[in-house]
Amino acid sequence: MTPPHEGVLVLESFLNDSWVSGAGVGAPLINPSDGNLVATASSDGLDLRAALQYGRDRGGPALRALSFSERGALLGQIADALNGRRDDWYEISRINSGNTKADAAIDVDGGIGTLKYFAKLASTLGDGRMLSDGPATRLGRDPAFVGVHLGMPVRGVAIQINAYNFPSWGLWGKAAVALLAGVPVFAKPATATAWLSQAMVKAVVDAGILPTGALSLLCGGAGDLLDHARFGDVIAFTGSAETGLKISHSPRVVSEGVRVNIEADSLNSAVLAPDGAYGTPAFDFFTSEVVKEMVAKSGQKCTAIRRVFVPAEQADAAAEAISAGLAAVKVGDPANEGVGMGPLVHMGQRKTVEEGIAALTAAGATPVSRAEAGIAGDLAKGAFVSPTLLRMNDGAESALVHDLEVFGPVATLIPYNSPAELFSLVRRGGGSLVTSVFGNDSDFLVEAAEALGDSHGRLMLIDPSVGASHGGHGIVMPMSQHGGPGRAGNGSELGALRGLWFYLQRSAVQASSATLERFGGRYVEAVN
Ligand code: NAP
Repeated sequence: MTPPHEGVLVLESFLNDSWVSGAGVGAPLINPSDGNLVATASSDGLDLRAALQYGRDRGGPALRALSFSERGALLGQIADALNGRRDDWYEISRINSGNTKADAAIDVDGGIGTLKYFAKLASTLGDGRMLSDGPATRLGRDPAFVGVHLGMPVRGVAIQINAYNFPSWGLWGKAAVALLAGVPVFAKPATATAWLSQAMVKAVVDAGILPTGALSLLCGGAGDLLDHARFGDVIAFTGSAETGLKISHSPRVVSEGVRVNIEADSLNSAVLAPDGAYGTPAFDFFTSEVVKEMVAKSGQKCTAIRRVFVPAEQADAAAEAISAGLAAVKVGDPANEGVGMGPLVHMGQRKTVEEGIAALTAAGATPVSRAEAGIAGDLAKGAFVSPTLLRMNDGAESALVHDLEVFGPVATLIPYNSPAELFSLVRRGGGSLVTSVFGNDSDFLVEAAEALGDSHGRLMLIDPSVGASHGGHGIVMPMSQHGGPGRAGNGSELGALRGLWFYLQRSAVQASSATLERFGGRYVEAVN
């Protein structure tokens, strides 16, 4: 057996309620600002079949024995345990993900905030352990024979596989919903940034909050994990469409009928409405949101704006305003003063992004700006990329601009000449997580919603009255259902009590009204 790197943190996994390491040197986790090794993670040789079974045998029964409000209290305790150490989490985010403090806050505070939200929601559900989907309804001539749809927790494990860009929010956003539903969690963070997930889970385990088997964590590759999935388990995956396809088509998942939720990549859009002329509030709110979204987490957000649609007569002014905003952002090692955008997650991602920019350019896009402010970091060692706005004058001609997700600080501005052309171009994303539309006139926003709703998981319609107070194009909210159709994965997550349904089996319970009454408070109606 090769010894691990001397002095380097080895990320252990938490399986069967014990901390264990895989064999071998493990995969490297690096600091993307300087290329230094910060930790390793290996799952080689770990018995994942036994670990999943442990969750089913121990965690499931323990969680199902609790009411919604008792489970919610556990979520609140997890949030408290994490909240007290936010500075530690920001520091790990800087070192392992190259996050600025603002970027780290999206991930860390987003995760903790989501736990708190579901804890509060659960406190309103009393002693219920099941959800009802609507009230009981009469089924036939006899008024005493009625039916109600009840959601009961699945009796497997919630296998939650996360992408590298949100090691905190991805983990806790999913875990909160599964635990509240009464299903044990088996979390698998992306290896490249698993340190934060591991450190947070360690803090929660050390605080002794959850019942035995309710939370497991796998650091390192997925190995043969999916070969041990079985009926009753559910898989919630976030990542690339390619990996999502592999997971949903893996033989065991198919043969056991394991439910899979996929949150994949997406060609999201921001739209400036026809009335959003230069000098109007809509123009300013729109251009500043595009800049913010391109830079936040160095463009590594599944919801980030990739296509920027503007009326043709506003294209020059919009390009200029966005370029000016990008030019003011200092790129570099977030440890340096004044840095507003950190590196990508690693050199491999930088290469992929640079290849993506080159491909879009070869397909007819012209560079509008690559911010000139210079890079406050070592380009030879750090995965830095300048924010890059491209322009594609004939959006209908290029297939690539509607198909290639360049997962970095890169967006393409596309002029349009009519609403009909605009809607048809936006729809060429083939199903997206989100489009935001900025206009001075609400009538156009409504028209856009009707034209685009079926191809989007979320639409953000911004008129000047909420221009300064909206949640942000790229920010997901636990009270809204998120996920997009088509290439975005056809998945959904969060969404208040709606989100719980992924972890519940909906059963049409048909019985006498007297029998239904005997359920007492065991089910609560999902009203949000
Ligand atoms: P990825 O390469 O697809 O990896 C995602 C996760 O899948 C990682 O934990 C990875 O583990 C795991 N994985 C890889 N192969 C697997 C297999 N055969 N079986 C089981 N698990 C496997 O994606 P990424 O590079 O981390 O994330 C970037 C992508 O995620 C972007 O395309 C982005 O759009 C998308 N994303 C989507 C959303 C959304 O909500 N729609 C949110 C965030 C990101 P290892 O790291 O160990 O390989």
